[in-house]
Amino acid sequence: MHVTDALKVSLDENLAMVQDSVAFLRANGRHVIYDAEHWFDGYKANAPYALKTLNAALIAGAEWLVLCDTNGGTLPKEIETIVAEVHTWLHQRASTLKLNKLPGLGIHTHNDSGTAVAGALAAVEAQANMVHGTINGYGERCGNADLCALIPDLQLKMGHDCLAPQHLQTLTQTSYFISEIVNLAPDDHAPYVGRSAFAHKGGIHISAVERNPKTYEHICPTAIGNNRRIVVSSSSGASTVLAKAKSYNIELQKDDPAMGQIIHTVKELESKGYQFEAAEASFELLMLSALGKYEPMFQLRGFEVSYNVLQSDVQCNIGARATVKVAVQGQDVLEVAECMGPVSALDKALRKALVQFYPVIDTFYLTDYKVRILNSEAGTAAKIRVLVESSNGKQRWSTIGVSVNILEASYQAVAAGMAYGLHRSKLPDTVIENRSVTPSNNT
Ligand SMILES: [Zn+2]
Repeated sequence: MHVTDALKVSLDENLAMVQDSVAFLRANGRHVIYDAEHWFDGYKANAPYALKTLNAALIAGAEWLVLCDTNGGTLPKEIETIVAEVHTWLHQRASTLKLNKLPGLGIHTHNDSGTAVAGALAAVEAQANMVHGTINGYGERCGNADLCALIPDLQLKMGHDCLAPQHLQTLTQTSYFISEIVNLAPDDHAPYVGRSAFAHKGGIHISAVERNPKTYEHICPTAIGNNRRIVVSSSSGASTVLAKAKSYNIELQKDDPAMGQIIHTVKELESKGYQFEAAEASFELLMLSALGKYEPMFQLRGFEVSYNVLQSDVQCNIGARATVKVAVQGQDVLEVAECMGPVSALDKALRKALVQFYPVIDTFYLTDYKVRILNSEAGTAAKIRVLVESSNGKQRWSTIGVSVNILEASYQAVAAGMAYGLHRSKLPDTVIENRSVTPSNNT
């Protein structure tokens, strides 16, 4: 169908085109990886002809024959069967043609049936030895096979050598780095590299994993550069707080008087609508404050926002102006900034006030901003929870704000993000290593 309806040539002409193109490239000293587009659908429709196309590439000198499931509709079992048949055919052809080197066999899958990774693994079981995929599975429609799952599957579970161990350990970083470049929020639930891939919540669950990680972890997270994540929630008791402290390298003993205070504060804040599961930086600051180990580098004194909508017949001009007052190093600082939206105006004014004291603030930027209405039955008087994610290009951290006023909640979260970033910037890199998520050459 693709030859006659898409390319609009005869079956013989198509074979000649394949052979000419591959031969031309080989004659010019190029390596040729021949991608057999629509391979599986073509093979199912007309296997003898489909094999003739591969044969044309083979005799013209292609070094790799890659079987593509371009529409993504073929299920793993079928892929495995067809790849095995091609593998047998290839051996027969090679001996007939007396080739001294057998071309490699590749697999290229798409995720339209939700089985791109499974299909690629099935092909490898049937002797494919080149696997196509993309980082985080990014690709047209439903994406390509996700290398961040494929590589550890192949290497850690099937024993194939894909990467040197030290490179495998950068997989999580790489996944975040690519998501940052393409400006898509990372998938927290992605296999292996997701932020929640090794997250544990609930007392018994956490104490078990602390005793023996294999109770709830299929591999050691550090093998692919990820980390165990202990999630905090109202159901959490002392063991969660202790595990969390350990993951931040904070010294805390079970009988520490601060323990009771931390648990009490968490419960109280949660009853007000705070939730620390997605705001780990805020939780860390809370813990450090209870232990007397956190000295705020600035204090909020207040803010004011005005917002204008000036409509004329021809256009609509909107703009926000924010004024903030903060105390820094014994001085009161007042700054004003203007922006399209009120939250960005607040963010800008706060930066202006702080950057003269802490130039590092220039490297911070917001990577995500989420608003959730808590008690929606209260209508416009409902409480608002704002989650902000900040980054300095190397780490990402999340902070929270809660208020009946969306600007106040946003301001709290943005200011906490800056406070956390400043606090972290005083510490050596080794301490924050476990939450390092993107390479420093982020441009
Ligand atoms: Zn493709």
